Amino acid sequence: MWHTSAILPPIAEKIPPLDGLMTYGHEPVSPEMIATSPNLKAISVVGVGYDHVHVETCRERGIAVGHTPGILSDTTADMTMALLLATARNIVPAYNHVQVSKQWKYYDPNILWGTDVHHATLGIVGMGRIGHAVAKRARAFDMRVLYYKRERRPDWEEELGVEYVTFENLLEVSDFVTLHVPLTEETTHLIGEAELALMKKTAILVNIARGPVVDHYALYDALKQGQIAGAAVDVTEPEPINTDHPLLSLDNVIVAPHLGSATVQTRMKMATMAMENLLAGLKGEQLPYGVLQPNFPR
Ligand code: NAP
Repeated sequence: MWHTSAILPPIAEKIPPLDGLMTYGHEPVSPEMIATSPNLKAISVVGVGYDHVHVETCRERGIAVGHTPGILSDTTADMTMALLLATARNIVPAYNHVQVSKQWKYYDPNILWGTDVHHATLGIVGMGRIGHAVAKRARAFDMRVLYYKRERRPDWEEELGVEYVTFENLLEVSDFVTLHVPLTEETTHLIGEAELALMKKTAILVNIARGPVVDHYALYDALKQGQIAGAAVDVTEPEPINTDHPLLSLDNVIVAPHLGSATVQTRMKMATMAMENLLAGLKGEQLPYGVLQPNFPR
């Protein structure tokens, strides 16, 4: 089964047969699109997640696939903390109060009370490169950090003092839950009605992984009914999210337009890595940051 969070039409009709393709964004690179380019040698993803590329077809065709892991981990972890802090401390409602609706007429000590981030419990789901960078930041906030992934990392427990727990336990006890899994069959709708029901009513969910990791209708219901207190999502299903999506009508959710790695410095480095992958793939050489190495007949 192929998973993609994007709904935009494949770009196959717009371009002639290709030798190499660089994808900047998440337009699906479908089997049909790949079929239009019999000489395609390399696909270079500007990003770490490659769920929008039909890797199985590339494997069958011997097409190299590259991505840009690692370089964006710190930047995406910064954005995770930004979303977490903004939600916990009502930054968007504060902005709306003062600058949009011009409601700030006198100092009111009773408005916009948030919740403490320091000394709270953070649950990291899918602790890999980005999750590890988030854990480092959370430790600086004196947070207790729980993590769940399929393979335990005792070295990281030693390094960062993070605690390995079951997925269910993480959801039950965390004040903040952040998602950092890749989008796969297993992680599609990893967070749905049942999982949201396990979370604290005061909890905040941050999804900076991929939109379909969270069932948006279950999230809407949970936010609307106060099953959880708030959410911040950098990624949606679909992308862009429909402007009439019910989630956008809520004031306890922040929706960002997929900005995780979007800084000048990091995007420039990602572009360089992606170009190195593409040039190597076109020459039939090993990709420096490969998902699939070239294996086409020469
Ligand atoms: P990574 O290093 O591969 O980490 C992913 C982690 O998820 C691994 O530790 C893996 O550990 C865990 N995992 C995989 N399947 C799982 C499952 N079924 N249940 C629980 N844990 C699972 O990847 P990364 O570089 O941190 O990036 C993670 C994802 O973030 C990317 O795939 C991408 O989709 C997303 N991302 C988003 C943005 C953005 O702009 N919003 C930016 C960068 C990345 P185990 O194998 O041990 O389970």
